[in-house]
Amino acid sequence: MRVVFRPFVSGLAMTALLAGVPRAIQAQESSVSTAIQAATPAAGDGLVSDVPVFSAVQPPGAYTRALEAGTRSADGRPGPNYWQQRVDYRIDVQLDPATAMITGSETITIHNGSPIAIPVIALRLYQNVFAEGVERNRTVELTGGMELTRLAVAGTELTELTQQTFNREPGYLPLSTLAAIRLPQPLEPGAQLELQVDWSFVVSGGGGFRNGHLDNEIFNIAQWYPQVAVNDDVFGLDVEPYLGDGEFYVDYGNFDVDITVPEQWVVVGTGTLMNPEEVLRPEQVALLDSAPALDTIVQIVSAEDIAAGTVTQVTDGRRLTWRFYAENVRDFAFATSSKYAWDVTGAETGGPQGRALIQGVYDPEATTWAEAAPFGKHAIEFFSDYLYAYPYPVATVAYGPPQVGGMEYPMITFINRRDDPASLNGVTTHELSHFWVPMIVGTKENAYAWMDEGFTTFNTALAMDDYYGDDTESGRGRDRAMGRYLQAAQAEVEVPIMWHTDFAPNGFGRSIAAYSKPGMLMHALRHMMGEDAFDAAYRDYIDTWAFKHPMPWDFFAMMAQAAGTDLDWFWQSWYYGTVTLDQAVEAVNDVDGGVEVTVSNNRGGVMPVELHLELEDGTKIIDVWPVSVWAGTREVTRLVPVDGQVFKVSIDPDVWYPDIDRSNNDWERPGA
Ligand SMILES: [Zn+2]
Repeated sequence: MRVVFRPFVSGLAMTALLAGVPRAIQAQESSVSTAIQAATPAAGDGLVSDVPVFSAVQPPGAYTRALEAGTRSADGRPGPNYWQQRVDYRIDVQLDPATAMITGSETITIHNGSPIAIPVIALRLYQNVFAEGVERNRTVELTGGMELTRLAVAGTELTELTQQTFNREPGYLPLSTLAAIRLPQPLEPGAQLELQVDWSFVVSGGGGFRNGHLDNEIFNIAQWYPQVAVNDDVFGLDVEPYLGDGEFYVDYGNFDVDITVPEQWVVVGTGTLMNPEEVLRPEQVALLDSAPALDTIVQIVSAEDIAAGTVTQVTDGRRLTWRFYAENVRDFAFATSSKYAWDVTGAETGGPQGRALIQGVYDPEATTWAEAAPFGKHAIEFFSDYLYAYPYPVATVAYGPPQVGGMEYPMITFINRRDDPASLNGVTTHELSHFWVPMIVGTKENAYAWMDEGFTTFNTALAMDDYYGDDTESGRGRDRAMGRYLQAAQAEVEVPIMWHTDFAPNGFGRSIAAYSKPGMLMHALRHMMGEDAFDAAYRDYIDTWAFKHPMPWDFFAMMAQAAGTDLDWFWQSWYYGTVTLDQAVEAVNDVDGGVEVTVSNNRGGVMPVELHLELEDGTKIIDVWPVSVWAGTREVTRLVPVDGQVFKVSIDPDVWYPDIDRSNNDWERPGA
């Protein structure tokens, strides 16, 4: 049996893309005569009937102005004038488990990296999503929200303002999950400013989301401190309210955090534990020190320790303060419990820091969780190799109450109980992928959820294929993303990927637009560009935008640059729209030198045509038509040169492209 396999993944695919697509209909040169002609058009002159038109992506004016100002550049990289804010936090926090009360005090240092003086800043008070009367798009348990007991700028107490007085005097104006602050003096470019804030709130129980507690014994604490809202070079001050569905957009900084809890409570958090000798027993400190070098699991706290009361130092009931330090992170979260077993191991990052500490903390009754640290280790090593060397010293998988689902923060993730190992591995890998997007690459995920969830869906599929094999039930993440997308497209509940994530009218549509569809499209683009070219471009994007704030149009431009051709057709139809794809084999005719194949494009979406031909002698041939064949037509006939009789023709049998009706994708020779 002779097999002719054209190397589709690299050369041919690239050729398909390089053929290019008209970016926009060329404007006619302006002249008096054309102007007069335009004034008296014949009926129908301006209509383009029944043919797909590829229009150019039009970024918002704010992005175009950033290009003009040189903070962004046309190739999708930060421009020479790129800037961002930096915000450092020094926080003291106490948790009283019996009342679930958090009491905190912080000093925030804002560094104005922008070229303009800033008169107004904003604080995010996320816990107010649990307050009565606050606008939100999720059902919650009311906790009363966050109470601010002190707010001072450089030592000067601020008073509460009204909408009427906000424009006239310094002070703060509470606005649901935000507080706007008019500074006593504008913060000059290059200058820094200190804010002091004291606050308290009750941690939500069963009716929360992303954070909460289980029976006052296991606490996952996030969105818990007043946080400075981003001010960026494209959209300026980010005052979009936190409504629940949309996630976060945060600047980078250093965190120095003291967490005080009762003795016999384990605390894990973003960053390195700075004072293990003050909270742990000497043998635990030695184990923790040795853990990053290990490939096996050791326990800092076992079920026996919990029963024996040897979880921490024994201090006759005194409370213990755990001190954490984290550099260049966009948030801080922590988990604490009197029921946590604590596993540790190490992972190779391949980066400047070498190995990282990997931790799993969990209720020992959840026996599957003994795999949490090994799953975390695989994810950190896989993504370090595939994407970007993990730059942080710790990665922790923390068990949490049901309402946390799976939720990511820098260096720590909260995950609820999973008893199936593959499910725990899948969610652990997904959440740890978020350590790269959006924790390292600081996207504006409150608006563009696909830039973290879609990328993460794609990353996780590759990591799970690596762990289980791409022909297993637990692998095949690409198939699941495609299946879920097609389900939504067929049910017509889709919303465009580029819609703000809080605007989706239904949860399924929102999740498809954020996760499955952009995940599926990353696989499709990788198939078109070729794995090597795509992977190099994707890594370049991660590396270029690490610890910065990329926008969608930066990603679009970088990928098009790497593909060496215009990709606006791809972004325009698949990211901005909800058009669907249906390619069909209409006819196959024998001619001299091969077969003439006619393929139709029956819906609004376009993709290249990937034809698989089988000859009667078993030969297989792949023929790829560039997407540009669809410019101005819905039906294309092309000669496919073959030597022998064709027995079968199939469009995309490996399902790289989201064809909504596969019943018309195959042709077989009659009577064969
Ligand atoms: Zn996610």
